[in-house]
Amino acid sequence: MKIEIPMFHDVWMDNGVEHLYRILKESDGVKTNLLSNKFEFEIIDKENFLKSFVKKIEEKRDSVIFIEEKNETTNEKRNLKKDFVLIQYGKKVDGRNVLKEKIYLNPEERINEIFDIINENGNNKCIICGKNYKKRVDNLKQAVYPLVTKIKSLNGIRSTREQYVELCPLCYLIGTLEWCDEGIIYRVFPKSHSFVLLPKVYDFKTLYESKSKWINTVLSGERFSNIKVSKNNYEEVEWTSSEYSTLLCFFEKFLNWVCLEDEGLMSFESAKSEVCEDWVYMSIPWGMVKNIKFEDLDIENEVMGIIYELIKDEKYVYGDFIKKILYFRKTPNGTTIDNDLTNQTRENLSKYFLMDDFNKFSNTFIPRKKGRISINKESRGVLENLVYLWRLQKMGFEKEDLETIKSVGNIVAEVSTKSIGLLYRLDKARSIEEFWNSLREISRKMISLEKPVKAKSINGLIEMMNEKRENWEEIKNLLVIYSCMYYYIKTL
Ligand SMILES: [Zn+2]
Repeated sequence: MKIEIPMFHDVWMDNGVEHLYRILKESDGVKTNLLSNKFEFEIIDKENFLKSFVKKIEEKRDSVIFIEEKNETTNEKRNLKKDFVLIQYGKKVDGRNVLKEKIYLNPEERINEIFDIINENGNNKCIICGKNYKKRVDNLKQAVYPLVTKIKSLNGIRSTREQYVELCPLCYLIGTLEWCDEGIIYRVFPKSHSFVLLPKVYDFKTLYESKSKWINTVLSGERFSNIKVSKNNYEEVEWTSSEYSTLLCFFEKFLNWVCLEDEGLMSFESAKSEVCEDWVYMSIPWGMVKNIKFEDLDIENEVMGIIYELIKDEKYVYGDFIKKILYFRKTPNGTTIDNDLTNQTRENLSKYFLMDDFNKFSNTFIPRKKGRISINKESRGVLENLVYLWRLQKMGFEKEDLETIKSVGNIVAEVSTKSIGLLYRLDKARSIEEFWNSLREISRKMISLEKPVKAKSINGLIEMMNEKRENWEEIKNLLVIYSCMYYYIKTL
């Protein structure tokens, strides 16, 4: 029996096909062939194949979908499904949790059922793959296809009863098994929501190669995330703020591994191509109501190279800079860390860096709600390398030119401690004229504070601007970052 699965151009299903390949490749009685745009397999020895396939499903169900949790007081262990898995629990068996979905509850029966009819042609048309089939094994539901209510082409599916049941056995198989794909990146926020990140790669071979690498080297599952980082010689789950910081943390860990593995061999260009740029994230609410959100995340290819270059220099943009950032706020009880603003700042910096939006990145540093960002010395060093690789180098400036910007930033910060509006105005400048106006005002204020303005640094900045007039906004953004940093130091 030979089965051919062409590409779906659907992120859940295509990851599902690649995952099916990973299972069947290790199963007995079946020959597999993965091509860029399709996956073929041929069952040579049906009895052996079914037995070994079922065993694989059971193993993956127990090791990937379920986790063991120990009750701290009673020391009792219980098995829980990961919070993002959209499959209901069935009635407990021997005190252990089981899944209601038949492929996981009784895989032997369901797999036999599927492979009895999988190649039969009939008059029904599958809503996912569009192929004709004879008999279905189940209806379309979130356990098969989590995006069921969200995909445009499937709009109204909940009301169109007929279409809702039109699902071929092969799509059922691919869709339900994707839940035990260990290559899905997830992060769970207890009592709030979970999200999963799926690579969007419309080439099975590339998808397989990238995913296999990170499955074997970077990810290891726990209840709340499968990205762990080293902390005092231990690997612990990284409590990233949201989707972009999770991706950045993942990229950094992955590229670090690539870097250590192929030291000296990997070029800037090939490092960039090692990780996927296009992702989809699904946000799944906590609790029973499962109306999920999903969105595309496009990552700029260029920033991968920057992360990699920094790693080669043992500098970590996420680990040493973004995750070390804290946001302090004055409250009636004294200055305390504002956790929401801390997370928001970390998430925004990750997001705008990955999206290559330097304007919004620099704007994130602007003081908000009478609070201030705290960045330690080591983190400032990483930031300096980051802005150099990300911006200055591209404009053709030297690292020393950053000293000019820092020096003017110091002046802006000094004046801003007396009148913060000037810093906001500088940030908001939308033309080079507006920029010069606000800088002139800052110089005047400086003189009225009876502090000498370092004419040298201002002249240096004017020179930089004149040299790269088309990049004036980039230079302004750099100035905003350093003005904010000195502002925070001065207002400590
Ligand atoms: Zn189908």
